[in-house]
Amino acid sequence: MDDGRPGVGALVTDAQFVDLTAAGFGPDMLTLIERFDELGPNIRALESETHYRRSLDAVRLRAPIPRPRRNIFCVGKNYHSHAVEFSRSGFDASGKGDDESPEYPIFFSKPPSVVVAPGDVINAGLDPLQSVDYEGELAVVVGRSGRVQGIDDAMSYVFGYTVFNDVTSRHLQKRHKQWLLGKGIDTFGPMGPAIVTRDELPNLGDSRIRTWVNGQLRQSARLGDMIFDIPRLIREIGQVIRLEPGDVIATGTPVGVGIGFSPPKFLREGDRIRIAIDGVGTLENTVG
Ligand code: MG
Repeated sequence: MDDGRPGVGALVTDAQFVDLTAAGFGPDMLTLIERFDELGPNIRALESETHYRRSLDAVRLRAPIPRPRRNIFCVGKNYHSHAVEFSRSGFDASGKGDDESPEYPIFFSKPPSVVVAPGDVINAGLDPLQSVDYEGELAVVVGRSGRVQGIDDAMSYVFGYTVFNDVTSRHLQKRHKQWLLGKGIDTFGPMGPAIVTRDELPNLGDSRIRTWVNGQLRQSARLGDMIFDIPRLIREIGQVIRLEPGDVIATGTPVGVGIGFSPPKFLREGDRIRIAIDGVGTLENTVG
């Protein structure tokens, strides 16, 4: 906030937000998500008043969930053309052949310490093998706790959506077989700029996700092209791991990552990565 304290707000225009922390709605997003059933109607009411309005220019945005309580759930190869691109790149250590989309979702996780804010620097110097790549993704933020009983029940766990960059060291990802190191490097999880609640995006599948590197369009796909859709992902995770409010699920990246090029186009210091999802927002970070 403008006095340097962290807090949570609700966007009311592109330039203004309501200071929900000042209005007594809790210190952070996790608290807000946990209490949203009770607080949601009051927040909506507050959005039409001016008393707690602030200018976005007066604050520095953090990630919507700056430090998730546990690892971020992630999905590998969830768009067919990316699965092909990855298999053919030579960086896929899973041993699958060309054109092979997975029969079941591939899950891995990133530690909470990867998360950085919009505008923050991705520390590419931490990759000892200098093979940093971007992955523009939609992230689902979980809104309630429980074990998911079935597909019909799955969407009731969604609080909202944000944009995520599943930044990856390709050589570490390949060398260590398991993806924890290659995907888990500090600062390799930019998130934001905000969370859009589920009710605001009833036709999410029609939204496009696009990624630019230094202004050059690299990725462009419909979210509806995911191999495993959001209810399926939530059910697969949530039937065996009890979901908690504030859990984050990164849903996979479409075709167009740096290793899809020959030779691969790895990120370099000074590069700017911009990821935009229709109706969700735009996340931009630089490489340092
Ligand atoms: Mg990914």
